[in-house]
Formats: sequence, structure tokens, C-alpha cells
Amino acid sequence: DMEEMSTSNVGFMTRAIHAGQDPDPTYGSLATPIYQTSTFCFDDVQDGIDKFNGTKSGYVYSRGGNPTVNTLEKKLAAIEGGEACVVTGSGMGAVGSVMLGILRAGDHVVYGNCVYGCTDVVIHEMLTRFGVEVTPVDTTDLESVSAAIRPNTRMIYFETPTNPTMRVTDIAGIKRLVDGKDIKVVVDNTFAPPPIQYPLACGADIVLHSMTKYLNGHGDVIGGAIIGSSEDIGNIKTYASTKISGSILSPIDAFLVIRGLQTLGLRIQRHCENAYRLARWLEDQPMVERVMYPGLESFCDYELAKKQMNGLYTGMLSFELKEGIKGRSSFESGRVVADNLKLAHVAVSLGDPASLIENPVTMTHNNVPAEELEHMDITPGLFRFSAGLEDTDDLIADFSQAFSLL
Ligand code: PLP
Repeated sequence: DMEEMSTSNVGFMTRAIHAGQDPDPTYGSLATPIYQTSTFCFDDVQDGIDKFNGTKSGYVYSRGGNPTVNTLEKKLAAIEGGEACVVTGSGMGAVGSVMLGILRAGDHVVYGNCVYGCTDVVIHEMLTRFGVEVTPVDTTDLESVSAAIRPNTRMIYFETPTNPTMRVTDIAGIKRLVDGKDIKVVVDNTFAPPPIQYPLACGADIVLHSMTKYLNGHGDVIGGAIIGSSEDIGNIKTYASTKISGSILSPIDAFLVIRGLQTLGLRIQRHCENAYRLARWLEDQPMVERVMYPGLESFCDYELAKKQMNGLYTGMLSFELKEGIKGRSSFESGRVVADNLKLAHVAVSLGDPASLIENPVTMTHNNVPAEELEHMDITPGLFRFSAGLEDTDDLIADFSQAFSLL
């Protein structure tokens, strides 16, 4: 039985393929069927009464549960090593649902000062409207985190590595700070999904994802996921994703992510290999000012990344060209490269088969105030690259021809 195996000690690829996914009982379909239905018919009134009051198990209505969606949730729980999972209609649905499901007025949140722009808005503007206090800190500095904790702190929220600066936070170190306190450690693991890093195993209470990115991996779904204890996920489902915000994933999108997850291990290896090789190449170019990639020995957080990220790091990197190449600003030189890459498209998002390049200041982080950008070390000339699944030599040849135009 694959459900039993999902919790036992098999390798990552085996889990990603088999966990949660027994052949469908109706006709023995090996691929999980798309149960594209809003409601489920009861045998009779008594059957409906029993399923509503919980004396009988079974599906009732797809906002509360759906077989295709539940298969995906079981698979994700096994992949992240958590008891339970709930998937949502987007990564932001996951962020919002964690907040709504866990926090209440009077609570205090400590959060990483470098998080995805819309997450920053949810914490900074939405939570404060509901009477939750928030404090941004540099979570790579454990002393700053420790100093920010108050008696009413209930959550520490961060991304590691950070988007787009790739800074790495010590998850186990954060856990040690909150040991014995009623504080949930929440990690957005979008940039480094399994088999790269396992936040729950490092001591995090809740891990969330934009499934839009590596988990689905094919650039054709918007979705989110939250994994944690049965109790926390139960609260999040009840008080947020299924009841209040109604941020649920459609069965067809669940089907696509189930398919994508079965090759996650292979894809991640190639994404990471491509990013690493490209980071090394960029580092050697005289026109490059800096490269941000956790797997480079020259990177400030390399030692911690090596410990926490299973030697795989991530498929994401950021780089900046020197000021003044032929009198151009760093941004203008970056624009020449981005506009002339033939394989990478200029687009936000990440983790797709095709490589993507974007400029954080004018795109993903354009809603972040200038002084915060400076704090976050996000400069105008910084470009973020999502290494796709192309052949590594082709990617490097593409960069080489684009650099020759500088
Ligand atoms: N978290 C991170 C780190 C992201 O990069 C994004 C992406 O855009 C999100 C959350 C939000 O996800 P989504 O776009 O699926 O709502």
C-alpha cells in the first residue's frame, strides 16, 4: 500500500512517484482521475446526514474536499515529511491562509525583511488592519530575530533562500530561539523545494509553497501548498482556505501538479546543475560585478547553505554587471544581456522548463519602497535568472553570445 510507504524511509524519487497515489478504485486507473465535480451525490438523506455530522466518511462538496485534490495533498505531505497538507488556489492563497488560520488580534509576527513583494503587503498592510503587530528583521542574523521576539510573538515567517538576493536563514537556529515557546516557525520553501531542503526536518512547524513554480514545474498552473501538523493544517483549512477565503485548487490543476511532482527530483537536479554552472561561468566574467548563488564558495552564506541545502542549492541566481561598460549603467548593460538571450524569456515566475530572466526593481519588487530595496540589497542593475531544463552548454553559449554584445 503506497499510503503506508509514503511515511516510511524510502528515497525521494520513490516517494514523489508513489506517495498518496494508489490506482483509482473505480476502474483501476493508474493516473489519478480528474474528479471535475462541484458536489457529490448522497445515497439518500440519511447518507447526507451521516457525512455532514462525520459519523460516515466521504466526499460532500469540492470546496471541502475532492479526491484528485486530496491525492495531491497526500503526495505533498509525504514529499515534505509532514503529517498533513492543504493546497490552495495560488501561492498567495497559501500565505494568506497560514496567517488567517494561525493568528488572531493581539498577536505579533516577526518576519524576514526580504520576502516576495505581495507577501510583504499581506503581512505589512493586511495583518496590521486586523490588529496583528508585525516586525521585519534580517532573519539571516539570529541575534536580530532573538531581539525582536516579544511575549505575544506567535509566528516567525521567512523565505530561504530569499527572492532575489539568495540569502540563507538557519532554520534549525531559528527553531532553537523559539524552543518551548508558543511560536510557529513558518518557511516559504518555494525557492528550494525537496529534495533540496526539508524545513520541517530542520524544526519548522509549517512549510508553504507557491506550487506555480518548481512543484508543478511546467509553467501551466497557479497554485499553493501548506504542509505541517494535522492540527495546524486542520485549523488552516477550517478557519481559512476552505471556509473563509475559499482559496482552493481546482481538480484539473491538482492533476497537473500530481503529474509534475513525479519528475520533481530529476527536474530539480537539472535546474540546480544549470544554475550552478552558469553561476560559476558568470563569476569568471570580468564584466560581472557580483553573482548571488548559495552554492558558490564565494557567496556570503555558502557554509550554511552547504549544511542546509543537501548540496543542491537552487535553480535561481541573481547577477549584476559593472557600472560604466561603454558608458552604460549597470541596469542598461543587464538590459542588453536580457534582451539578447535567445533561450531565456523575459518573464517573472520561475521553475519552468524554459529559462526566465527578470529585473526585480522594475518587475517583481516594483511595489517595494526605495529605502527598503536598499536595505534588502536589491539594486537597479540586479537581474534574476531562473535556470530552466535546457542543456547546460546551450545556456552558457547563449549567455556568451549575449555578453559579446556588451
Ligand atoms: N512566495 C514566493 C517566494 C514567490 O516567489 C511567489 C511568487 O510569485 C509567491 C510566494 C506567490 O505565489 P503565487 O504567484 O503562486 O501566488
